[in-house]
Amino acid sequence: MKDNSINIRAIQHFMYCNRRFGLLEINNDWSENAFVVKANILHENVHSGSHKFSSNDIVSRSSVAVYNDDPQYNIFGVTDCVEFVNSLNGVDINGLDGKYNVRLVEYKPRQPKDKTFNESDAIQVFAQKLCADYIWKCDSEGYVYYADTKKRIKLPFKEEYEKYNLLIIDYLSRMREILKTGKIPQKSKDVKCSGCSMLDYCFPKSISYCVQKEINRIDGTE
Ligand code: SF4
Repeated sequence: MKDNSINIRAIQHFMYCNRRFGLLEINNDWSENAFVVKANILHENVHSGSHKFSSNDIVSRSSVAVYNDDPQYNIFGVTDCVEFVNSLNGVDINGLDGKYNVRLVEYKPRQPKDKTFNESDAIQVFAQKLCADYIWKCDSEGYVYYADTKKRIKLPFKEEYEKYNLLIIDYLSRMREILKTGKIPQKSKDVKCSGCSMLDYCFPKSISYCVQKEINRIDGTE
């Protein structure tokens, strides 16, 4: 049977632009720009292990692989950081003594100027939550940490669980439809391309070709 599991990372590409998702997942195209490199450096720093620590109350782990193979999701990914917080009301965690509540923390370079958090960041962490809750039978909390403002924002998953759940189910279904057809979607009107690392793939710069100029170039007369 064909594996139709989806990497959580791909959900963000899909939210940014359906065409970008298609280029990456169907064509296996990839290109980096300054935004991508900056985010990579931040994540390498987090995943390097320097953020691994334990105190009496909290056990923190970076780069924890998670999944949820319930057919309505069938997703997997790697979290930036999982904090297991000692609590009598918590759950058992394999390899740890005691009971713990689970916190997910995702690191992002920039906080948006006009709102507390990006909706696409929240969706990414919510997808991780679906996996964490599935694995540890818990009700995990989700946070995003913005490096530029050094703020950790708690995401409203308790209050808006249904909203995020329906959004994820809808995205996954549309993503699977694109993968099934194998057709890369066209750019939609409302998508802004200026910060996208795939710009050169989508809109290659054309250079007009002139035979006389080419002859002059070969002759060295230009
Ligand atoms: S350049 Fe524009 S259309 Fe192309 S993938 Fe990026 S955002 Fe989408």
